Amino acid sequence: MYRIDNKSVKILIVDDTPENLEIAGSILARDQYDIYIADNGLSALELANNNLFDLILLDLMMPGLDGFETCIQIRKIPINRSVPIIFLTARAEIDSVIRGFEIGASDYIRKPFNPVELLARVKTHVEVRKFREQLELQNFELERALAYARSLARTDELTGLLNRREINALIEYEVVRAERSKHEFSIVIADIDFFKAINDVHGHLVGDNVLIEIARILSQSVRAQDFVSRWGGEELLLLLPETTPEEAVELANRLRLAVGSYPFSGDGKIFYATMSFGICGHTPGMTLNTLLDRADKALYVGKNTGRNKVVLSEA
Ligand code: GH3
Ligand code: MG
Ligand code: MG
Repeated sequence: MYRIDNKSVKILIVDDTPENLEIAGSILARDQYDIYIADNGLSALELANNNLFDLILLDLMMPGLDGFETCIQIRKIPINRSVPIIFLTARAEIDSVIRGFEIGASDYIRKPFNPVELLARVKTHVEVRKFREQLELQNFELERALAYARSLARTDELTGLLNRREINALIEYEVVRAERSKHEFSIVIADIDFFKAINDVHGHLVGDNVLIEIARILSQSVRAQDFVSRWGGEELLLLLPETTPEEAVELANRLRLAVGSYPFSGDGKIFYATMSFGICGHTPGMTLNTLLDRADKALYVGKNTGRNKVVLSEA
């Protein structure tokens, strides 16, 4: 089981009677807690502003800022918002105890202290507090792992771009949207020219870096509403909502020039790479498969007529 090291448990005792501070302090010292004391509400707030406490023992009746008001103020300090607060009460009146619970107290202890009772209650609250903290931490770690797993399911590991499954779903959604309204959109399939040769000459790792850099250049050159994905191997696919085929050609040419003028490096040497682009604009009744097929055919026209080209599919 998880063990608590009491030396790391910070407890604040607040009471305007020095004798009470001393008694409570010496009882708790038996279990080796890290004890802080304050003899008024304002000093307690100052300490609470600068220390994350695991437990606060708070006298109800104090001159100036009383226990209720001090409790309310402590709850407003972000680091101590959820610290357990136990009221110390000489009065047995049920009313003050109930009011204490209403403003967020965890428990109360009667004065004069019974040492066994004080130690037992403190131990219980400290344990609950520590377990809760641990659960919150575990929960946070699980949520972070889940968010990471979700992003992995959507993106390509090497480039961080959307993966094929994700872009397929997005294009399908766009096809449906285009059928329902007058929204136009275009897709672009972009393929690195002679990538095999880049790998052969510079090595696979440099090839990987070219892919990463190209993914970055493309992502940075498109509008916020556009999607860039890794379609497979060295082929990237762009989905451009609200874009005519002519506008897509213009964008692709900008991308072509940006990639073509980028100085890649491998083994300390600078080299250049080019890309070919096949484009198809969606027209009413066109399915996802037709769209992809036409963009692909356009790309291969580009490949067969010299590469480093943008080709628009014939309507
Ligand atoms: P083309 O101009 O006709 O497109 O020629 P190409 O050499 O680019 O095309 P080809 O399809 O012959 O070769 C693609 C190469 O891309 C082969 C494959 O090993 C490489 N490749 C695919 N994915 C990756 C990757 O993730 N990293 C690296 N370094 N290479 C990859
Ligand atoms: Mg290629
Ligand atoms: Mg290829």
